[in-house]
Amino acid sequence: MATQQVYDVIIVGGGPAGCATALALHRIDSPCSVLFIDDADPAMFKIGESLPGIAVQTLAYLSPTLSDRISHDTAQGDHARCSGNASIWSSHELHEEYSLTRLYGSGWHLDRALFDESLRQAVREAFDKSNDNSLPSRIVREQFVSIEKHDGVWCVHTKHPDMGTTNRYYSKWAVDATGRKASLARKLGAATLKNDKLLAFYSLFVSPEDDGDRRTLIEATESGWWYTSSLPHNRRIVVYHTDDDDPSAKLARTADGFLNLLHSHAHHISSIITTHHHDFFPGQKFPRSTSANSSVLDPICNDREHWCAVGDAAMAFDPLSSQGMITALNAGCFIGEELAKRISMESEGAGSDEICSIPDYYAALAQKYEMEKKQYYRLARFDGGFWAKRQL
Ligand SMILES: Cc1cc2nc3c(=O)[nH]c(=O)nc-3n(C[C@H](O)[C@H](O)[C@H](O)COP(=O)(O)OP(=O)(O)OC[C@H]3O[C@@H](n4cnc5c(N)ncnc54)[C@H](O)[C@@H]3O)c2cc1C
Repeated sequence: MATQQVYDVIIVGGGPAGCATALALHRIDSPCSVLFIDDADPAMFKIGESLPGIAVQTLAYLSPTLSDRISHDTAQGDHARCSGNASIWSSHELHEEYSLTRLYGSGWHLDRALFDESLRQAVREAFDKSNDNSLPSRIVREQFVSIEKHDGVWCVHTKHPDMGTTNRYYSKWAVDATGRKASLARKLGAATLKNDKLLAFYSLFVSPEDDGDRRTLIEATESGWWYTSSLPHNRRIVVYHTDDDDPSAKLARTADGFLNLLHSHAHHISSIITTHHHDFFPGQKFPRSTSANSSVLDPICNDREHWCAVGDAAMAFDPLSSQGMITALNAGCFIGEELAKRISMESEGAGSDEICSIPDYYAALAQKYEMEKKQYYRLARFDGGFWAKRQL
């Protein structure tokens, strides 16, 4: 019988959180052996495009090539720069905030699927560079199916997304970076606690001309809020957020209903869409819907059992914060470094003095986020059902 190969860590999920975790695990002198499992199709449109300028710090920390790749793709026109935020929120007046007034300057409106693929490419490069390990780190495009423990070792079952072939991999630690689904942690009995019922309905539009508006425009309405961002190649994303039990949620599911809501309530965004003759992006079905609620996993990790969650799998935020990606990247840095410490402590018997608590990290994050979210919702000029419960 072939000897079982046991990785130090299996990471499931190759979005910002999983990639940052893998890169942080490979920054140290004697990198751990990592199996990185992701099922994303880079050709599929992905929502979540605004990245603040300050992210360059984290990207540079994670990989020497990432910032250059993003700059190159931006110069090629595959990502767009974001000039700032504009909101119609506390009054009917447009409030503008320009990126140039921020310390790190303008951020991006990313082609999100391409950005995530660049992160995975950085992981491939980091793995290739430090593969003198007896069990080289690997990245596989497979789908996580289930997990169980045998004799203190995790056994992760996967299947190929197209061919359906199955595989089994073994590790000492398991990391859930599968996003809001938290597929791995839920198999281990953890529960995602939802704080609200926010849904996002989104449509991708395309215009025959460049509309030239590089702002993120946010517009509050009686039953929720909208935003729009320009994307490369004359595209524009328009998103409506409301609670799943609000009557408008039913309307927003159809193309006609979505457009009716947009043109009747979000007048500034509607004006951009009509002035520049934006139409639904052809060949794909819009609008689509996705969960956008705040949530927290319970528990977020189990040190004794050797598993933890990172990114949206651990804690997901209302998109109003526009902080999902940067928070996921930073959390990945933290989790990668913490796992590296724990693994070296176990293999070399080093002291545990420098180990930081993963639940404490997330508790501090949650406290800051809840405070900022409440402050922002309280500024809104509405106080009806959707708003009142967020202003308490
Ligand atoms: C409407 C909306 C708008 C948003 N806008 C922004 C924004 O403008 N800016 C911002 O910073 N954030 C935004 N966010 C949030 C942001 O997208 C997330 O916070 C961020 O993507 C979290 O990264 P992650 O790596 O934790 O998860 P994800 O990005 O969801 O990545 C999870 C990865 O795991 C893979 N995966 C899942 N299940 C499996 C499986 N079974 N097997 C193998 N692989 C699997 C997926 O393919 C994916 O690659 C928005 C969110 C929403 C809902």
